[in-house]
Amino acid sequence: MPFRTIIEPFRIKTVEPIRHTTREERGAALQTAGYNLFLLKAEDVLIDLLTDSGTGAMSSAQWAGMMQGDESYAGARSFFRFEAAVQEITGLKHVIPTHQGRAAERILFGSTLKPGDIVPNNTHFDTTRANTEYRQAVALDLPIPEGTHPEQLHPFKGNMDLEKLERVLAENPGKAPLVMITVTNNSGGGQPVSMANIRAASELCRRYNVPLFLDACRFAENAWFIKLREDGYADKTPLAIAQEMFSYVDGCTMSAKKDGLANIGGFLAVNDDDLAQRCKNLLILTEGFPTYGGLAGYDLEAIAVGLHEVLDEDYLRYRIRSVAYLGEILTRAGIPIVQPPGGHAIYLDAKAMLPHIPQSEYPAWALGLVLYLEGGIRSVEIGSVMFGHQPDGSEKPAAMELVRLAFPRRVYTQSHVDYLAEVLLHVNQLRQRIRGVRMVEAPSVLRHFTARMAPAHNRLIVD
Ligand SMILES: *Cc1c(COP(=O)(O)O)cnc(C)c1O
Repeated sequence: MPFRTIIEPFRIKTVEPIRHTTREERGAALQTAGYNLFLLKAEDVLIDLLTDSGTGAMSSAQWAGMMQGDESYAGARSFFRFEAAVQEITGLKHVIPTHQGRAAERILFGSTLKPGDIVPNNTHFDTTRANTEYRQAVALDLPIPEGTHPEQLHPFKGNMDLEKLERVLAENPGKAPLVMITVTNNSGGGQPVSMANIRAASELCRRYNVPLFLDACRFAENAWFIKLREDGYADKTPLAIAQEMFSYVDGCTMSAKKDGLANIGGFLAVNDDDLAQRCKNLLILTEGFPTYGGLAGYDLEAIAVGLHEVLDEDYLRYRIRSVAYLGEILTRAGIPIVQPPGGHAIYLDAKAMLPHIPQSEYPAWALGLVLYLEGGIRSVEIGSVMFGHQPDGSEKPAAMELVRLAFPRRVYTQSHVDYLAEVLLHVNQLRQRIRGVRMVEAPSVLRHFTARMAPAHNRLIVD
């Protein structure tokens, strides 16, 4: 390509206004929301980086596909289009639609796990962990050592620690009904997993006769990183790389709200006939008939088109570049982030940025609140509020205190990112004056969604 500028590879056909608020209004909104960004009204947010899940913009081809949705209860044409799209990429035999990723997890774990079982994963996502623990099984995170050090560089920081995995499988025969690899590793910083790591994990699992599953939410972003960083893949298409990734596994769970480029949906895909039947039985009980699984026919169409568009090279180049661009500005300004930037998000390292706030006062949560107060930006804490509560009721600080700034797909442009960078630089100037928070009330599972918090020292920012 003769020019260096990477542009948004789309033009805008429909716009949705976003609204500025005053700092005073945002302060009041925080109070009303119990100092929990999940409990804000979205209208009071200027740039919403809470999640990249279901928040993307659909293409004109996806909207056109939706008009062709077949809403038949059983055997709808839309299901077969959806099934073909999933099978082309994954090669997996049985494709089971679900309303989103966690439903696929619940159905898979409901069909495979019993109390006391162990599920190794490079790093569990919050709903994956919660669904495992709900079955009274142990969700075991086995990231490589570099994966838990924000400042350490590694091209595939999302990799699974295969030595530890082998030890777990050898020492717990019959206790691990499946192993999972999350691509990209969301809770570990949106970091990719190498093809070599997936291949070796697959060989290991085969040796111990344990099925391997992908938590495939960001399979296309992972494929792009493999193309950029792993020897032998530079000339392969993202589709061919994704196909190889899936060729090493026995099944996958997927949230189509991520790399399905849809606003809702997901699926579970497995090769095993017997497991597929058990999953379908559970599906009928709570989600719906196996050819719609809780989705409308038009949702299945949107996902079928989205799975195709997400593997477009121009899209992936722009997507990964937008995140890296923000990462470079922050790094130049000395703001500590998980390095290198991941695929869908920048993760601020709140422990390094706010060393004066003890983990018991949730530094990442506090930083997220200040980003909103100062600039109207919504982020999410991935730290001790999300992960500190143990199944036995005790409290243990999380390994990292991160603030995730997740980029919705095809929604914001470079000027939005420039604004974001300006706010972050401003908040970095204030960092010594930021104070911690305390928990006022919280449920025992997935507490970050509904916890009510308060400033631990009367104010979030002291003079
Ligand atoms: C989003 C996500 C899920 C859960 O999917 P939902 O559609 O939100 O239910 C599972 N695993 C990972 C890695 C995710 O990012």
